[in-house]
Amino acid sequence: MTEAIPFRPPDWSNVRRALVIMAHPDDPDFTCAGTAIQMARQGIEVTYMILTNGDKGNHNPEITRNQLIALRKIEQRKAAALCGVHQVLFMEEEDGFLQPSRQLRERVTREIRRIRPELVICTNPDRYFVGDGYINHPDHRNAGLVALEAIFPAADNPMFFPQMADEGYLPHKISQLYVFGHPESDTRIDITDDIQTKIQAILCHETQIADPIEGPKRWMERWGQDQPDGSRRYFEQFKAMRFG
Ligand SMILES: [Zn+2]
Repeated sequence: MTEAIPFRPPDWSNVRRALVIMAHPDDPDFTCAGTAIQMARQGIEVTYMILTNGDKGNHNPEITRNQLIALRKIEQRKAAALCGVHQVLFMEEEDGFLQPSRQLRERVTREIRRIRPELVICTNPDRYFVGDGYINHPDHRNAGLVALEAIFPAADNPMFFPQMADEGYLPHKISQLYVFGHPESDTRIDITDDIQTKIQAILCHETQIADPIEGPKRWMERWGQDQPDGSRRYFEQFKAMRFG
């Protein structure tokens, strides 16, 4: 892999709370569980916000739609607990049809104003293709849009959704944004020590994992990077935005 942009280590010195906004149950585990584990270990309160109910992620005809929604919540809560994540919020939009609607922007803005995270992690809304064999799920793109449009120009602007002040949710400006799946990723977190926990978190999503033996082997192969000193290390990387 070529690294045109030199990577920086993360700076969490002023981060007390982090919010991960993703489309589906299992998205946080694939994209940023290692980062969440390290944040939680440092005492940062991590919240996962899952925008859809995951009701299309099933290949087992024995399981009904409502059973699947319930199962996927259990799986995501179990994975989050393994990573030391503080809480999981389920926003219950329909899987496969996620849209950056005004109504959803309001709901996400309310949560940002309530939780008041210094750092948000989301997906890249511009990413249509992953490698040369996978069309990125539209929900992953739209989840990125939902997150960005709630952060700016809504969450920190009192003219957006002013009635929330009556509920006690005042405008809030985040200080850092990590975007997953961005070609200009510049911040990376070495998750080598936590890679097994990340894999265990992914494997909590039993309804999604076709082969719990071969899957992890493939992931380890794909995610590992051989270092000049001969070691093999694992990273999660993001494009980091910083707001003054
Ligand atoms: Zn997904």
